[in-house]
Amino acid sequence: MGMLNKEIVSLINNNQEFVLTSHVNPDGDSIGSEIALQKYLSSLGKNAKVLNYSSTPANYTFLDRDNVIEQFDESRHKSLIEHADVIFVLDTNEYSRLRTLEPFIRSSKAKKVLVDHHLGYEAASGLFDCYMVDTESPATGEMLYKFFKDIAESSSKDIKDIISRDIAIALYAAIMTDTGSFKYNRTDSETHEIISQLLGYGISPYDIYSEIYNKATIGKLHLLGRFLNNITMVHEGRTAFSVVTQKDFEETGTDEYAIEGFSTHLMSLETVVLGIVITETKRGVKLSFRSKGNVRSNELAGEFQGGGHMNASGAFIPGAKLKDIVSEAADRAEKYIQ
Ligand code: 5GP
Ligand code: MN
Repeated sequence: MGMLNKEIVSLINNNQEFVLTSHVNPDGDSIGSEIALQKYLSSLGKNAKVLNYSSTPANYTFLDRDNVIEQFDESRHKSLIEHADVIFVLDTNEYSRLRTLEPFIRSSKAKKVLVDHHLGYEAASGLFDCYMVDTESPATGEMLYKFFKDIAESSSKDIKDIISRDIAIALYAAIMTDTGSFKYNRTDSETHEIISQLLGYGISPYDIYSEIYNKATIGKLHLLGRFLNNITMVHEGRTAFSVVTQKDFEETGTDEYAIEGFSTHLMSLETVVLGIVITETKRGVKLSFRSKGNVRSNELAGEFQGGGHMNASGAFIPGAKLKDIVSEAADRAEKYIQ
């Protein structure tokens, strides 16, 4: 049995109004974790609202059949955040990644709980009232599974009284997406044991995978074609990067969500240890880093005020010019790939 986080359990038991949120451009781990925790809190009779800066990407809406996730709107949600008892921030340890929610959450009198698996949480010390942090964990969803299991064991309940089928689907999606469909290094036997328990609910791995990854449009494949054509190799083939511009999105009828998964192609190159996807967005330039072995991509991301995990990280540079960032990223990358 793990160590039950009693502080968080008593915050849940002793309060009624909850707000849950996660980072800009939410991924499967953010949405899955939010849905799982929201459904658990609801099952206890609590009021739990999920408020995100971004709208839910189309391939994750199947997790939110009851439409509990709302896109943050200051006029509608300000007082909800102000008057919440407890706010959960899931899958990011940086307030800035909550974008426009940041000032309202920071100034709320609510108890703030961080549930996350990213590196760099030390910088958030003192900014939350309660921490559930495990930087070794492959997914926030896996941390929540273990939390639910600890609750079941400590209260002699059956896990099925806590994890419903819908929660199981949400946790499965969270873990599947953040492990790269069970291939990244932090995927260990414990992850597979948890997945085995979740499959015990009779959920279909194929259906969940299909909902998330077999939803491409022809525009997305055309965009991928451009991305592949533009790959540049530097540092004797150890670094690969490619650029996606606003023009590419316009001409293929796609948007910024379409680049999900593109980095995999850079990393499939045998000689490459560092891959960089550089995206021109309306508000600035997004950098997405992937690395192999002990190449510390998160430190490179840190040079651009970003962060993340050692082998998967990112940064966003508001108002930056694409051309400047391309050369700066390639230059700064060199010292990390030795
Ligand atoms: P992705 O490349 O898939 O957008 O992001 C990969 C990982 O990098 C995310 O899980 C997150 O940890 C981190 N990340 C992405 N964008 C940012 C960012 O703008 N700031 C920070 N601090 N981390 C980011
Ligand atoms: Mn995650």
